[in-house]
Amino acid sequence: MTEIIPAAEILRVPVHPYTMAGAVRRIIGDVIAGLRIFVVTANAEIIMMGQKDEDYLQILKSADLVLPDGAGTVWAGRSLGYEVPERVAGYDLFINLLQEAVAQNLRIFFFGAAPGVAEAAKAKCEQIYPGVRIVGVRNGYFKNDETSDIIDEINSSGAEMLFAALGAPKQEVWLARNGAALSPRLLMGIGGSFDVLAGRVSRAPKWVQNASLEWLYRLYKQPSRFRRMLVLPKFVIKVLRNKSNNTG
Ligand code: UDP
Repeated sequence: MTEIIPAAEILRVPVHPYTMAGAVRRIIGDVIAGLRIFVVTANAEIIMMGQKDEDYLQILKSADLVLPDGAGTVWAGRSLGYEVPERVAGYDLFINLLQEAVAQNLRIFFFGAAPGVAEAAKAKCEQIYPGVRIVGVRNGYFKNDETSDIIDEINSSGAEMLFAALGAPKQEVWLARNGAALSPRLLMGIGGSFDVLAGRVSRAPKWVQNASLEWLYRLYKQPSRFRRMLVLPKFVIKVLRNKSNNTG
C-alpha cells in the first residue's frame, strides 16, 4: 500500500510534498502494481510556465504526482503554510529510481537529449548499477511526424519506466499528449539529467545544493541560462502576493 499525500497549491499547481524516500516508494509501488503514473518535478520555472500557458497548467494539474523540485518550490510551499519536508530534485529522484529499478528488475527506456548522450548515460548507468535493464534509448531531436515511430520503439522495448529528457515544457507536453498510446507505467520528464549522468554537465557540489544555491551554480556554469532565470524573482513576487491576498 503506498501513501497518498494531499497537494500543496502553489500558484494553482498542486505540488505533492513527499520526501525523496516517499516519492520513490509511491512511484515504484505504482509501477509494480501496474498503475500509470505521470510524474513532474516542478521547479519555479515550470510553475511559472504554467502561469503563462493555460494548456501547460492543465497538463501540470493532470499529472499523478507533482514533486517539489528546486529551492524556490520548497520555499513557496512553506511560505504558503504547507509542510514541505524536503526538496525532491529531478536528477536525484531519477538516480534513486534507477537504483530501485535494479532491485525490482524493472525495464527502463531513456528518451531525449542530443544524439549520443542517452547512449552515454546508459553506458555510465550500466557501469555504476550492474544489472540495470535499459531496454532502449532514443535521442530527443525529432520531427512531429516521427512521433508514432518513437512510440512504437518505446512500446516494443517492453519498458515499464520511461524517462523523457526533452526539457520543460516539451517533455511534459509530449508525455501528456502521447500518454494514452504509451505502454510504460511510469512517464517522467527529467530535463538535462542524461547530460549530467553522461558527464557532459556537472551538478553543483553538495554544499551548494544544501545552501539552496544550485540555481546560482547553474547560472555560473551556463550563463546562457540568464534569461530563463529572470523568471525566479517574478515567481517570488507572485507567491508573496498570493500569500498576502490569502491572509489579508
Ligand atoms: N532536448 C531534447 N530535445 C529538444 C530540446 C531539448 O532532447 O527538442 C534536451 C537537451 O538536449 C537537454 C534537455 O533536453 O538534454 C534539456 O536540458 P535543460 O538543462 O534545459 O533542462 P532542465 O533540467 O533545465 O529542464
